[in-house]
Amino acid sequence: MKIAIVGGGAAGRFASLMLARAGHDVTLFERDRLELAPDVESAAASAFRPTAPQIMQPHIVMARCRELLRQRLPDIYNDLLAAGVVEAPIRTQMLPSLTDTAAQPGDERLTLLQTRRSTVDWVLLRAVLAEPRIRPRSRVRVIGLTAAPGQPLHVTGVRTREGNVPADLVIDSTGRRSPIDSWLTEIGAATTATWRAECGVAYYSRHYRLRPTRLPPGLPTMRLVAGLDEFTVGIWPADNGAMQMAVAPLAADRRFRPLKHPDVFTAVLRTVPTHAAWLDVMDPISDVFPMAGLHNTLRRLVAGGEPVVTGLHAIGDSVCTTNPTLGRGLSLAISGAADLLDTISGHADDPAEQALALDALVGAHVAPFYHDQAAIDQARLMALRHTIFGAPAPDPLPVTPDRITYAQLRAAAAVDPTAFRAFWKVMGMMCPPEEVYTDSRVVARTLEILKQRGDRPPIVQPSHEQLLDALAS
Ligand SMILES: Cc1cc2nc3c(=O)[nH]c(=O)nc-3n(C[C@H](O)[C@H](O)[C@H](O)COP(=O)(O)OP(=O)(O)OC[C@H]3O[C@@H](n4cnc5c(N)ncnc54)[C@H](O)[C@@H]3O)c2cc1C
Repeated sequence: MKIAIVGGGAAGRFASLMLARAGHDVTLFERDRLELAPDVESAAASAFRPTAPQIMQPHIVMARCRELLRQRLPDIYNDLLAAGVVEAPIRTQMLPSLTDTAAQPGDERLTLLQTRRSTVDWVLLRAVLAEPRIRPRSRVRVIGLTAAPGQPLHVTGVRTREGNVPADLVIDSTGRRSPIDSWLTEIGAATTATWRAECGVAYYSRHYRLRPTRLPPGLPTMRLVAGLDEFTVGIWPADNGAMQMAVAPLAADRRFRPLKHPDVFTAVLRTVPTHAAWLDVMDPISDVFPMAGLHNTLRRLVAGGEPVVTGLHAIGDSVCTTNPTLGRGLSLAISGAADLLDTISGHADDPAEQALALDALVGAHVAPFYHDQAAIDQARLMALRHTIFGAPAPDPLPVTPDRITYAQLRAAAAVDPTAFRAFWKVMGMMCPPEEVYTDSRVVARTLEILKQRGDRPPIVQPSHEQLLDALAS
């Protein structure tokens, strides 16, 4: 099959590799550059692209993405490790407060990968450029679709300024600002079904490198993302001694605007002891990168039970974006690529069946994480707005005997080994979140812990005055 993939980000690269290796002829259109830097450090230094600004932001590869890499693209997995990406067993995420740190069966599946996003993209691009069945079209922007009549319309290719390119199948992997609905409107098709939920945060982040020195004793070596009273703060270890730090306040909280200045960014991090300790053992290797305009979105190409068109699928951020603090995007991107390949292989001759089958997989593998994120963010935003702007207080968390919330599970995971594994199953996207929230063993352990210890995060945070001083520094 001749397949046109539009968008050469992570989703487009995962899909190109899987489809080409399954025997399809892939043309990969990227409006930006598809040029390989000589090594990972040059890739990091030149990574910024205005069309995909998230590349400069801290990333982690969650367990689901790692598992699919090992199953579907094992050579890429090995290439990532060879490029310096670090396997972080789940024990690296255990807080000192956890009552039992012994390994348990199944822990291996929860391993994460610590890396800069630019390193992932570099390894993927090198493989894409080496794949004979992929034709990269660097700096070629797709501006629309071509379609044949039918009920629904059938997409027959893409339009570029250099001319139309016919294809048996078109894949939209154009990311969070996908123009797919305007393209569908232009050809006279129905638009997609889309959902949107507030994410409400902005990101300010910076990359560092660890000094070749012994770490102070007790300094945690984990991804530590903490939702404090007035902002979220995080540190993510990465490849080749790089570290990533971020402060994520409410996007509407203007007090944090000066964070883009390195001194203010540092001063705010210094107010959080667990994060401040790191600043003494590493040096900055990038500017502070702000990013706003973050949303939770879900898009489905089957609306009202009917495909909006045939011959067109979507994957990656074009289908779903979620609050970045949970690091779900790359897992959704590779899972979308794997589902795409399976669907095409299973329904090669019937485009309508193909559309319905892929949409069913979006319902099973993507939608649960969108809805989970929307609920998590709604609760978090209410709490932040109450503290910062004096908005009405959120209702106290309902204590129900048969279901817990993400926040309750996260609090219990700091202490209890059962809740800890359950939490990392949700974080790792190893099953639908609801399955974990209603698991009777997990519910019982979580409620017991909350009864004993309350739900305060196990992290020391700045007072309001200390935060204001840091923001004014
Ligand atoms: C602040 C932040 C932090 C994040 N942290 C994590 C994390 O820790 N872990 C994680 O897994 N995920 C994380 N994510 C999410 C992750 O970055 C995204 O899910 C991922 O980049 C999606 O890849 P994509 O290929 O779908 O989109 P993109 O990477 O945006 O790629 C889309 C590509 O399409 C190209 N394009 C667009 N329009 C056209 C066109 N008309 N013609 C040709 N090309 C076009 C663009 O130039 C771009 O290269 C984070 C996101 C943000 C914003």
